[in-house]
Amino acid sequence: MGAYIEMGKLFVISGSSGVGKGTLLKLFLDKHPEFKLSVSCTTRKPREGEENGVNYFFLSTEEFNNLIKNDEFLEWAEFSCNMYGTQKAYVERKLSEGKNLILELDTTGALNVKKVMPEACLIFILPPSMEELESRLRGRHTESEDAIQKRLNTVKIEIERSNQFDYKIVNDDLEKALLELENVMCK
Ligand code: ADP
Ligand code: 5GP
Repeated sequence: MGAYIEMGKLFVISGSSGVGKGTLLKLFLDKHPEFKLSVSCTTRKPREGEENGVNYFFLSTEEFNNLIKNDEFLEWAEFSCNMYGTQKAYVERKLSEGKNLILELDTTGALNVKKVMPEACLIFILPPSMEELESRLRGRHTESEDAIQKRLNTVKIEIERSNQFDYKIVNDDLEKALLELENVMCK
C-alpha cells in the first residue's frame, strides 16, 4: 500500500510592484524548504539574470493564448501590458506531492484563485508609504520609466483590494515583516 501523503497548503502573496515580495519570499524560502514557490507563465521578456523555468516560463503571446484556449490556467491576468498565468496542472501536482505552494500573483489573480480555491490563504504586502514604494521600485533599476509609471498607476486599486485578503503585512523593517509572514504561514 502506498504511503498517505497529506495535501500541501496553498498561499497567495500579492502587493504592489517594488513592495518587496521577492525579497521577503527569498528570505522565507531559504529558511523554510518545505515551501515551494510556483513558477508562472508570462509573456514579459526576461530581465537580466532571469531563467526560463526558474523565474517564469517565458512564452510568446501565441503560446500563452493557446493555454487560455485549452483551459489550462487556474487563473491568468494582464498586468502592465503583459500576460501572467498559473497552470492548473502544476498547482495540482505540487499540492498532491504534499508541498506547501506559494503563488506570487497580482491582485486580480489572487482574488480569482480565492473564488475557485477558497481554502487558499491570501496575504497582501503593504509598503510603509507611497514614497518608499516608489523609491524601492526605482532603486531596483529593472524597469524603464514607462514600466515604472504603469506599475505605479495600479497601486491605488491594489491597496483598495487588499481589504479582501486574509492577512496584511507592512514591509517596513524586513526582519519584522519576515517574522509576521512566518506567523501566518507556519502556524
Ligand atoms: P517586488 O518583488 O515586490 O516587486 P522586490 O523584492 O524586488 O519587490 O523589492 C524591490 C526593492 O526594494 C529591492 O531593491 C529590495 O532590495 C528593496 N526592499 C525590499 N524590502 C525592503 C525593506 N523592507 N526595506 C528596504 N528596502 C527593501
Ligand atoms: P513582474 O513582471 O514584476 O515579475 O510581475 C508583475 C506582477 O505580476 C506581480 O504583481 C506578480 O505578482 C504578478 N504575477 C506573477 N505571476 C503571476 C501569475 O501567474 N498570475 C498573475 N495573475 N499574476 C502574476
